[in-house]
Amino acid sequence: MHLLICRFFALVTLCLGLGGLAQAAGLSKQEFAEQRRFAANNAMFVLYHEVAHLLIDQLDLPVLGREEDVADNMASWMLLSQGTARSEQALNDAVRGWFLSGVAYNSGSAEHDYAAAYMLDKQRAYQIVCMMVGKDATTFETVANSYHLPYERRESCRWDYETVDRNLKGLLDRHNGSSRRGSSVTVTYAAAGGALRMGADAFKASGVFEQVAGDVRRSYNLSAPVRFSAKRCGEANAFYDPDTVEIIFCYELMADYMDIYADNMPVAAPDRQPRAPRKDKHSGG
Ligand SMILES: [Zn+2]
Repeated sequence: MHLLICRFFALVTLCLGLGGLAQAAGLSKQEFAEQRRFAANNAMFVLYHEVAHLLIDQLDLPVLGREEDVADNMASWMLLSQGTARSEQALNDAVRGWFLSGVAYNSGSAEHDYAAAYMLDKQRAYQIVCMMVGKDATTFETVANSYHLPYERRESCRWDYETVDRNLKGLLDRHNGSSRRGSSVTVTYAAAGGALRMGADAFKASGVFEQVAGDVRRSYNLSAPVRFSAKRCGEANAFYDPDTVEIIFCYELMADYMDIYADNMPVAAPDRQPRAPRKDKHSGG
């Protein structure tokens, strides 16, 4: 199965286990903190992807190409525009997240993956790196090198980024005009117990939902009230529902990112104390 982040009406069923919630018990305090950071940052990228769907719908932004690709580029652009250490870390974690989910879900192994509305997970990862290095080749050179992004592609990434930057700024300025009235955004968390409780608690504690909601509240003039709803969905996903003008984040997705991180923890260096309870689960970094 292939992880999807999609609009509500394009919902595709996805089945997931929640094994990582149990695995978390074997992590050190630092590893647990890193796992939560990784999951929260991937959730942040996903939320900005959904914000992109929200803006495309509510501001009637033109889309010439696959909307899912546009939404990813807009999410990268929004995070790059923040220019903070936190936003850069979020992008780094999102890149790693797409690489890891591509392996976890065998992205590209089925013929229908190539007919999907989305790029393959690995392509989504590379496109985020592309936007990063396209904006600032010096700052993000290490990232581009670590994923072996070809030098000729780095050149065209600059074009990719500048095209998105110029067009988005123009479109958003046209809608915002000279005034920044802001938008009405409400945030709600549904209760979640059982196996989902840890993921739900980690998501709420991260503050990511409020952060992205606050960004929408301050940065865009949307006439319709916007709802941010976190809840159990029965699948690891996130959606934008144009009927209710609502961004829905599923706790299962947070749990899934925690799973993916726990299953791909770096192997302990020789001079480090081995993580005995989890050592047999890790075969590589
Ligand atoms: Zn989408």
